[in-house]
This record gives sequence, structure tokens and C-alpha cells, in this order.
Amino acid sequence: MTNTFNNSLGCAQQLDQEDPLASLRDEFEMTVTPNGEEEIYLVGNSLGLLPLSSRDYMNAEMNKWGRLGVRGHAGTDRDLDHPWASYHEPINKQMAALTGAKREEVVVMNGLTVNLHLMMVTFYRPNEKRYKILIEGHAFPSDHFAVESQIRHHGLSSEDALVVVNPRPGEELIRYEDIAALIEEHQDELALVLLPGIQYYTGQVFPMADIVELGHQAGAIVGFDLAHAVGNIPLELHDWSADFAVWCNYKYVNGGPGAIAGCFVHEQHLNKPDINRFEGWWGTNTETRFEMETVFDPIPTVDAWQLSNSSIFSMVPMRAALNVFDLAGGITPLREKSEKQIRYLDFLLEENLLDEIEVITPKDLQERGCQFSLRVIAEGKEGQDVFNELEESGVSCDWRYPDVIRIAPVPLYNSFTDIFRFVEILKTILRPE
Ligand SMILES: *Cc1c(COP(=O)(O)O)cnc(C)c1O
Repeated sequence: MTNTFNNSLGCAQQLDQEDPLASLRDEFEMTVTPNGEEEIYLVGNSLGLLPLSSRDYMNAEMNKWGRLGVRGHAGTDRDLDHPWASYHEPINKQMAALTGAKREEVVVMNGLTVNLHLMMVTFYRPNEKRYKILIEGHAFPSDHFAVESQIRHHGLSSEDALVVVNPRPGEELIRYEDIAALIEEHQDELALVLLPGIQYYTGQVFPMADIVELGHQAGAIVGFDLAHAVGNIPLELHDWSADFAVWCNYKYVNGGPGAIAGCFVHEQHLNKPDINRFEGWWGTNTETRFEMETVFDPIPTVDAWQLSNSSIFSMVPMRAALNVFDLAGGITPLREKSEKQIRYLDFLLEENLLDEIEVITPKDLQERGCQFSLRVIAEGKEGQDVFNELEESGVSCDWRYPDVIRIAPVPLYNSFTDIFRFVEILKTILRPE
């Protein structure tokens, strides 16, 4: 372990002083306890904080609606900032930058699970020979439900069509060699490999580039659920040649509760006239859209998958949130800070709580984002009680059945002092003097 850290408040404060991104915290509203004290918010893995400029942006759109009504869409006869018809365009561009994609490959629309279904409509086309889907056994329930209902939709059964990779007995993490072995075992029948970028329970990062390569060698499509990866770790979706990806934007992107979600389709699948897709009027040529022709003329980008006109009020916080990522200089400097915060929290936990807390998230920085999945191993303490005490002490974190407390120091708004104070609180709970 590095010796650049020590176990004092002074060290935390020093780290904050040296942090070039420390001022980004001021772009967010910090949550408060019932008696008005600022919380230690460590649950950005579940819902990111409010970017302050959202309020002004929201008011601007409310005013536009109030004053202009339908003219807010096109704004041709008024000098309009951000007309609604193209409101999503800069957002798509920023989102593409955040995911290592080309602008043509990324669009924000719908919710994550809706996008997952739309992607499977296009990319899961089972036939007699190829019909299996590989997922992980502990996949997020919504992903399970989406996959199993798609399998049934094609008249197949999960018993036949679902291939599941699990950690080995007694282990928490999924081994890459076990994914590889399953892909090889089922290579003649495998239609789709669908894995998360980061596993939501353990925080394990999957080697996405390698998985794409293996999946493609087997002749399968490879898609990712990046709910816990976007805004957390650097991604190179285009270069990795992932076929598709979906994600939500309310976790590390800070797009607000139920924020409009993201969707990636690799360039190689764009502009294919015979591709299978569910279509709507927002996917057709923008030049002729309002001529109301009934012949679909797809936009030559992933925008062709859009069904409905944009939900402006859920785009608004996205604009504010992505502007903060731009202020930060993108994901690379954020990840640099994040790695330091991860090493710092590792250090503090090892120094102070080695016999009380087990971190089930992988040790290696390559295999983890900012989430820590903590298991309480202190004698006579139940994890859920510890979680409740943390919440009562002004720490926002979350509890995942059966026995994990998840916390995530988010480099956009969490300080090193937050991390230090969190460990101090955890110590008073687990090692009361
Ligand atoms: C958060 C999350 C979801 C939530 O799906 P919604 O459609 O946004 O409600 C789904 N899958 C994963 C892996 C998640 O982490």
C-alpha cells in the first residue's frame, strides 16, 4: 500500500487542497439530514446529485413553454436558444464523448430497460441454430426480465436459451476464464452476449474489449449494460467494437431521478436498410419529418432508433450534468482523481477496520470503478444494522440484499474529507470504545 496517505484529518484536508477538481463540488447541491446538516453523500451509484444549473435551465424551458407554446419546438420565427426540436443534439454529442463513441453512435432516449428491449429487437434475432443469450446469474433484475421476456417473445424457453455465468462456489467475483469457457462451449448456438460494464452488486468491472473479441470470434453479438459504468470509468465503445450498449443517466451522470437513458449502436450497424428495428416518427429524416409522409426514411445515425419526440424536461438536467463533465475536462481527469480516492479509502479501511469490514469489490484498479461493496464481518454486528446506523449518522449509502453496503465516492462531488469522515463514523459504529 502506498505510504503517501496517513490516518489523520489533516491528510484528508491536504488531499482536498491538492485536488484540481475540488471546486466541482460547488456545481452540485449537497443533500441534508432532517436537521439541516450537510450529509456525507456516498450513494451516487444509485442517484447522482442535483447539478445546480438545472434549476435555471429548467426555468428557461418553463418560460419558453409559457411564452411561446408550440413555437418552442422550432423557433424559426423567434431568436430561440436551444429550440426543443434539436435540444438533444449537444447532449448526444457530450454523451458520445463520455462513452468513447462517435456522435452518430449515441442517442439519449427512453429509459434503460426500454432501450434494452429496443436493442434486443434489433440484435437478438434467434434462429434454429443461434438462439442463446449469455448473461450473468446475478444480473440486475430488470435485465433478467427483459432478456427472459424477449426469449419467450420468440417462442423459446429460458431453460434452452439462457446461458448463465456465475462466480464459483465460495467466490464473489466472476472469473473471465469462466466467461470465456461458456462462450466457447456454446459458440455454435450463441446469439448474444449481454454483460454489464460494472456489476452492480460487487462493483466488478468486466474486461469489455476482451469480451467483445471473444463474442465476435464465436459469431455472437455483444452488448453491454453500462448503468454503473458511464460517468464512472473511461469507456471506448467504438474502438472496442461493442455492437450495442444501454445505460441509465441518473447514477454517475447526475441526470436526475428517472433521467432519460442512453443508447449506443456501433457504426458498423448504421445505414443498413434491412436491419430489424421498431420505428417511430422521430427516427425519420428530419428534413421531411413534418411532411408526414408514411415512408420511413431513417436518419443515418443511431437517431433512427428514436421513437418519440424528446422529453424536454428530462433532458434539462442532462444538459446541466454533462456541462459539469465538460468543466472537469472529461472522464480522464475524473478517473485520475477517482483512483486516488479509491486507494485512499482502501488505505483507511485497511488501517482501521481490517477485522470489521471486508471489501468484496476487486482490489485491482483495472477491475473496479468508484463503488465499494462492503460486507460487515465484525463479530456480533449485522450488516443491515450497520447500514441503518450509518444513515442515522448522516451518511447516505445503500443496502443491497443479502449482505452488502454499497458506497461510492464520486470524484465530481465527494471530497477526501468525506471519505475520512465516513471511515471515522464507521469506526464509531463498529468499534465503540
Ligand atoms: C440501475 C439499473 C437498471 C435500472 O433500469 P431502469 O430501466 O433505469 O429502471 C437496470 N439495469 C442495471 C444493470 C442497473 O444498474
